[in-house]
Amino acid sequence: MAKKGHLFIISAPSGAGKSTILKAILREDLSLQYSISYTTRPLRGNERDGVDYYFISDAAFRKKIDSGELAEWAEVHGHLYGTPAKFLVDSLNRGYDILFDIDVEGAKRLYPKYPEAILVFIAPPSMEELKRRLAERGMDSAEAIEQRLNSAKAEMAEAERYHHVIVNDDLLKAVSELKAIIGKARLHE
Ligand code: ADP
Ligand code: 5GP
Repeated sequence: MAKKGHLFIISAPSGAGKSTILKAILREDLSLQYSISYTTRPLRGNERDGVDYYFISDAAFRKKIDSGELAEWAEVHGHLYGTPAKFLVDSLNRGYDILFDIDVEGAKRLYPKYPEAILVFIAPPSMEELKRRLAERGMDSAEAIEQRLNSAKAEMAEAERYHHVIVNDDLLKAVSELKAIIGKARLHE
């Protein structure tokens, strides 16, 4: 039988540095596929449609839910986010390893369907540093930052469900920890 790919589900409170870490890994590891999610949130900064997310309307998102196109979905910080089911199934069947950037609720829904998946939680070194990073990123209003910090407390409580927790203090160290997790999973196959 053909080899199936590995799934890596990565969650983190907003601002912990997940996108920065995933971009670094994806630049280096060309055999990793990134699952691009659908979202109803507006495009931010220099994000690109079809690269960072597929940015769609609320009505289009609801249609995708109804037609079963999403492997999981959740409402996060007031917007809808969902994982395309077809890309997941096709990539896995082709033997590709896939990275999913999804929130803790989405991870809870996707994991039971793919119990062989590896769950990785990226934590900030402290709540103070998380607040500093959200402010430094300069992409969210003061209100949105407050909302993200409030959600972060509940999200941090979910870290114990994950197989690995990476504290993103030093960026290079965090990237190499994730690389090691991915490398180890591949060795065991
Ligand atoms: P997320 O994707 O988790 O919401 P980002 O990757 O956008 O977070 O990172 C939030 C901010 O923190 C960005 O400005 C990023 O440059 C910065 N950042 C990421 N990792 C670190 C780190 N280890 N040390 C200091 N700043 C960091
Ligand atoms: P952001 O708006 O900062 O890009 O992402 C906000 C949150 O939505 C992050 O926790 C991110 O992991 C999550 N997210 C992104 N895509 C998906 C998805 O397809 N499904 C779920 N459940 N969460 C997602």
